[in-house]
Amino acid sequence: MKEKFHNRFSFPFPMVCALCFVAGCILLFGMVACHVGEEVPESPAGPLSGASVYRFILDGEDGGESPSPALGEKEESVTAPVSLVFWAGTFIIAGLGCLLLVYRHRIREKKQLQEGFLLLNEGMKAVQRGDYTIRIGKGPLQEAETVFTAFDEMAETLERSDRGRRTLVDTQLQNTTRWIREMRRRQKELASHGNLLEEKVAARTRVLESINTALRSSVRSLERRTLEITLLNRLAESLQHAKHAEDAATLVIRACQQIFPSDAGVFAFADADGKMQVVAGWGRDRPDIDSCMGDACPRKQKGGDKIDGCSAGVDGYDELCIPVIPREGGGAMMRIRLRQMADLYGRRQAARRALAGSVAGHLAACLTSLHLVDRLRREAVTDPLTGLYNRRYMEETFLREFARVRRENIPLSVILMDVDHFKIFNDTHGHDIGDAVLRHLAVILKKDVRTEDVACRFGGEEFLLLMPGLSSDSGLERGEFLRRRVEESPLVLDGYGELSVTLSMGLASYPEDGELPQDLILAADKAMYEAKAQGRNRIRRPWRPEADHQWAMFNKKPYL
Ligand code: GH3
Ligand code: MG
Ligand code: MG
Repeated sequence: MKEKFHNRFSFPFPMVCALCFVAGCILLFGMVACHVGEEVPESPAGPLSGASVYRFILDGEDGGESPSPALGEKEESVTAPVSLVFWAGTFIIAGLGCLLLVYRHRIREKKQLQEGFLLLNEGMKAVQRGDYTIRIGKGPLQEAETVFTAFDEMAETLERSDRGRRTLVDTQLQNTTRWIREMRRRQKELASHGNLLEEKVAARTRVLESINTALRSSVRSLERRTLEITLLNRLAESLQHAKHAEDAATLVIRACQQIFPSDAGVFAFADADGKMQVVAGWGRDRPDIDSCMGDACPRKQKGGDKIDGCSAGVDGYDELCIPVIPREGGGAMMRIRLRQMADLYGRRQAARRALAGSVAGHLAACLTSLHLVDRLRREAVTDPLTGLYNRRYMEETFLREFARVRRENIPLSVILMDVDHFKIFNDTHGHDIGDAVLRHLAVILKKDVRTEDVACRFGGEEFLLLMPGLSSDSGLERGEFLRRRVEESPLVLDGYGELSVTLSMGLASYPEDGELPQDLILAADKAMYEAKAQGRNRIRRPWRPEADHQWAMFNKKPYL
């Protein structure tokens, strides 16, 4: 722009003005000097005066060499200053005019520049405000046209970008508004969903709470049930060690005190006549066993294996009459008074009834077991044909009793008996009759021996009688008594008439006839064979001189 500005003034207009002005000044100075020179006498050899300078300029000659003008020339000298003044004035005016022109031009340019800057300033302010529609156009100053054009271009660019930005902002605003609207809609939906969810959660919570309560109650019930089952198992285990029915009843009562702590009950065993006798009970206000309806009991009428049928209504109680029916042996009865209680699903009372049934079942199993054990024990030591003890039992008992009598220093006698000519019974009437003879003898032995004596079947048709505490003499009397009883008690059988049976016996006694059980049996056996040898149906014992008179008393034949 600066360059352009200089180009505009490439013509040396100011220089010309200055030269004109200087020239005018010189002329004016020359004229003034000329005038001053005429008044002061001129020394031709003097230095260069003003007039000489004037002439030098006017004529181009050296003033020293020129002769002084004459009078005629005085007119000419008057005309010259006028023309000089004219020319000087012309030059001065021209110079001043030129200066004024330049000045005016400068002023105008400055004003245009100011206006241009003002416009630019306003434009900048408008742009600053965000008004991009402002345009300067060509502007008042040609030199600043590029700036104005650049400003306009910038404003246009800004306007375009502003328009774009506004469009973008509008779009974004619309989007944001839409988004906010959508958000609010979703918030409402969410809130309604939340409420719905809360209601559902509250409903579920209520259901869960009720389930939880039910579960807690169920857990309590299960815990109680577990405890009951544990106690029941303990009862079953302890019942295995029961020695007899009374033991079992005591154990059951102890278990019932824990299983049915708030209830009461009794146990009764059937006596020989089949009447129920209470043996044990627990709790207060025990039920009366006599209130049991007996044969009229609906349970019995239903078949006897149900426990629910026999319940009597007492205020606040259920009374159950539960039969304890072992597979073998005498029966028993459990009468229980259960306090009525309701719990979850009403199953508690039914479960307690079933539990009472289980207790009765365990007792029944125990009684069965006891009876079976008793029977097995009996069978193990009993001869099945005669019902007398067998030889094994006799041997065990003999050892035990022998040890006792020895310890107590008391006598013990043994009698070995053999049926005379038993083979004839078998051969004549058959083995059944032989068996009948053996059973007949067993009945006599069982009936006529003391409680503390042990009669056993020693072999085929041989019997042994163990008599602890009995001396040899007393044993002899006892043997003779039995021999006579058998002799006098024939077996009467239909179709066979009276079958006479006799026994031959051998007696041996401790301490006279042996120091050991087997010695005593051997001695009795020898004596028995002696009796056979002497004609049967008699009793013999090892010979002892001091007892000779007794032989005489019984058989009149001493044993040698
Ligand atoms: P003795 O007077 O000498 O004793 O003669 P006996 O016939 O009694 O003696 P023996 O030893 O010859 O016969 C015994 C018979 O007893 C032989 C056997 O068949 C029979 N016997 C053994 N055990 C039984 C039984 O349990 N039942 C029956 N019916 N007979 C039996
Ligand atoms: Mg024999
Ligand atoms: Mg015999």
